[in-house]
Amino acid sequence: MYSLPKLEYDYKDLAPYISEVQLTIHHQKHHQAYVNGANAIFDKLDKARKEGTDLDMKSTLKELSFNIGGHILHSLFWGNLAPAKGGKPGGMLVDSINKEFGSFERFKKEFSQAAMSVEGSGWAALSFSEQTNRPVIMQIEKHNMNVYPTHKILMVLDVFEHAYYIDYKNDRAKFVEAFWNIVNWDEVGRRMEG
Ligand code: MN
Repeated sequence: MYSLPKLEYDYKDLAPYISEVQLTIHHQKHHQAYVNGANAIFDKLDKARKEGTDLDMKSTLKELSFNIGGHILHSLFWGNLAPAKGGKPGGMLVDSINKEFGSFERFKKEFSQAAMSVEGSGWAALSFSEQTNRPVIMQIEKHNMNVYPTHKILMVLDVFEHAYYIDYKNDRAKFVEAFWNIVNWDEVGRRMEG
C-alpha cells in the first residue's frame, strides 16, 4: 500500500513562493488522492484475482499508471523543495549541467520553457541517463506520458493548475519563476550521485 509521505518542512515554510494554504491543499488533498487512487486499483486487482473475474486491463492499467506516477512525482517534488536559501547546484551536478547545457542560466531557461509549454497538466523534470552520462529534461504530460524509462529523476516541477492556482491564478510563468527560489539543490545533487 502506498501512503502519503510527510514533508521535511512546515506548510508555511515555502512562502511567499508557495503559500501555506496552497501547499497544504496540494499535499493533503491532491497528493493524497493519487495515493488513494493507486491503492484502490490494487484492491480491485486483488479482488478480481481472488474471484476469478476479468477487468478491463487497458483502462485499469492506464489509471494505475496515472496514479502511481502522480504519487511518485509528488514525493520527488516535495523532496526537491526547501525553504529559500538562494542556493545553486554544486558538485557533480553543476559540472554535468554546465557540460550539457553550456551554463546554469541556459539550463534554467530550457527547464522553464519545458515547464511553461506543457500542454494542459504535467511536469518538467530533470533526468539523468546512466547510459550516456547526460542530464536530459523531460516534459511529462499528466503524470506518466513522455517519461524516459530507466532515467533517474533528479528534480521535478509540478505545473498542474492545482499546484499554483490559489497563489498565482492562471499565471504559470510566475509560479515557474518562483520555483527557482525554493529548489533543494543538495537533494537534487544527492539523487544524481546516489
Ligand atoms: Mn500536483
